[in-house]
Amino acid sequence: MSIALQGTGVSKGIAIGKVNIIDRDQIEVNQVTLAKQDIETEIIRFENALILAHQQLKRIRDNLPVEKTAEIAGFIDAHLLMLEDSLLTQAPIHLIREHQCNAEWALKLQRDNLVHIFDEMDDPYLSSRKMDVEHVIARVQRILRGYIEQPNESFDNVANAIVLADDLTPADTVLMQHHGVLAFATEFGGTTSHTAILARSLGIPAIVGLRRARPYIRPSDTLIVDGSQGLIIVNPDERTLEYYRHRQREDRRYRAGLTKIKEAPTATLDGTPITLHANIEFPEDMIAVKRVGGEGIGLYRTEFLFMNRPQPPDEEEHLDAYTRVIKALKGGQITIRTLDLGADKQAESTRHTLLTANPALGLRAIRLCLKDLRLFKPQLRAILRASSLGKVRMLIPMVCEVQELVQVNNLLQEVRKELTQESLKFDPNMPLGAMIEVPAMAVCTDIFAKYVDFFSIGTNDLIQYTLAIDRVDDAVNYLYDPLHPAVLRLIKMSIDTANRLDKPISMCGEMASDSRYVRLLLGLGLRSFSVNPEALLEIKQIINNTNMQGLTRLANKILKSPTPADATKVLEIINQA
Ligand code: PEP
Ligand code: MG
Repeated sequence: MSIALQGTGVSKGIAIGKVNIIDRDQIEVNQVTLAKQDIETEIIRFENALILAHQQLKRIRDNLPVEKTAEIAGFIDAHLLMLEDSLLTQAPIHLIREHQCNAEWALKLQRDNLVHIFDEMDDPYLSSRKMDVEHVIARVQRILRGYIEQPNESFDNVANAIVLADDLTPADTVLMQHHGVLAFATEFGGTTSHTAILARSLGIPAIVGLRRARPYIRPSDTLIVDGSQGLIIVNPDERTLEYYRHRQREDRRYRAGLTKIKEAPTATLDGTPITLHANIEFPEDMIAVKRVGGEGIGLYRTEFLFMNRPQPPDEEEHLDAYTRVIKALKGGQITIRTLDLGADKQAESTRHTLLTANPALGLRAIRLCLKDLRLFKPQLRAILRASSLGKVRMLIPMVCEVQELVQVNNLLQEVRKELTQESLKFDPNMPLGAMIEVPAMAVCTDIFAKYVDFFSIGTNDLIQYTLAIDRVDDAVNYLYDPLHPAVLRLIKMSIDTANRLDKPISMCGEMASDSRYVRLLLGLGLRSFSVNPEALLEIKQIINNTNMQGLTRLANKILKSPTPADATKVLEIINQA
C-alpha cells in the first residue's frame, strides 16, 4: 500500500528511486591527548553535548505522531533517563581527567565498559538494553563530532538513491552529491539552512522537517520525492508513478525552453538594465553557471573549501580554486566571500564553535577569521593574488562592527606589503565589500559605507537575525517570512542608503533566487541580483517580462502590511501586473 508523507519542500524537482536510510550510530573515534589547561574546557564541551542530546530527544518525543505517542514515548523516556545517569554524566568526566583525553575518547571508553557489562549478563531483557545505551552514546558522539563525516567514511552507497536521514550537514550534502544521490529527505532542518541552499544550488530535490516519516519507510522501499510540494510517496502504485514521470518530463521541457534566453541581456521591459550574477560553492559549479549563460559570480561561498577534510586549505589551494573560477568566467566579475564557517556550517578545523549555547550568535564568519589568522591570512593572500588574474571583489560576511572592517583593512594592508616584498602580483584597488545580514548593518549602512566599496544583502541571515528565528530549526520555520515588514524595511533602507551614497548594492540571499519576490525587490529599488544557477534563467525571464511602472508604489504598500496575509495579497497584485 502506498503512503504519502508531508514535510517542507526546500528544493524543487521530482525524484523517483529506492530509499537509502542513513543510520549514523556507528562512529569512529580517535584519542587526542589534551594539554592540562584544556581539560576543563573539554569537560564543558562534553556537558554541552549532553544538554543538546537531551534537547534533541525531548523534541523528538514532543513531536511524536499522536497514534504512536504511547508506544514510543516510553522508549524515548528511557533514553532520556540514561542521559541523566551518572554512568554517562560523571564517568566520562572522570575518564577525561584520568586520561587527559578528548570527550569522544572518554565516552568511547565508557561505552566499551558498559557494553562489556551487558555482554556478561545472562538476562536477555537486560542485555537487549545494550542497544539503547549504544544509541544514546552514539547520539552524544554525533553531537561532539558536530555531525562531521570524514571523506568516504559514508555515503558511498547513495548513488541513484533517495537518502532519508535525521539531519544532514552541508558537508554531508556535498559528499552525497559527489556520490550521485537522487534526492534527500530529513526529519529536521530549516528552509534556508545551508543544507537546503546547497540542495537547491546542486539541483537535488529535497524535503526537510519530515518528522513522522521514519516509522513508515523501510530499507529499499521505492519513494517519490516531490520537492516543490514537500511530499514523499512511499511505494507508489503504477498510476502514481506514471503521473510523476510525466511531471519529470514536463519539468525538463520547461527548463529546456528557458535556455532560449540564455544569451539575452537582463533588462526590464522599459529598459532598466539589471545585473544578474550567480552564487557558487565550488569551482565545479561553473559548469552549471555557464550552462545558463551566467556572466559573473555575486557570491562565492568559500567555506566549502574547508569541509570534509582534517586541515584547512593552504594559500595555494585557495588560489587554485579562485583561478579556476576566474578562468571559467572569461573576464566576468567574481565576488569572493571570505570564510563563513560556524553555526550550521562546520569543518573539522572549526567544530569547537558548534557547542556554544547559541552558535549562530557566536564565533562565526568574520568573527572567527579575526580570532584565528591561521585560517584567514592564507585566504586574504590568495584573494589578493587572484585579483591580478581577473575582476575580483572581496566580500566580508556577518559584519556588525566598523572595527571589524578596520581590522580587515589593516590586515589587507599588511598582506599587500608582504606580497610586494615577495614580488607577487595583486590589484591594489581590489574592491572590498560587506554583507548586510545583521540588522545593525542595515540600520547603519551609511556609517559602514565609509569603510567599503560595495554591499551585498544576505537575506537568509538578515531574516534569521531580524525575526530571532534559527534558520535551521524547523520548529520555527513558520515564522521565517521574507515579507515581514521589518525585513522589507531593512532591505529598503539599505538599498536607499547605498544608492544615495553611490555604493553598489546587490542581494545574494535566497530571497533573490525566489521567483515570487523578484518584482517586489525591483520595486524596492534593487538592481543587482545574485542567484543560484538553477534559478538564474527563471529569474531572468521574470525580470525581462517586468514593467517597472507602478512597482515602487506597490512595493511601498507591502512595507505597511500588518499581516503576512495582507502582504501576500499585495504581492499577488505585483506579480500579476
Ligand atoms: C545570507 O545569509 O543570505 C547569505 C547569502 O549567506 P549564507 O546563506 O551563506 O549565510
Ligand atoms: Mg549569511
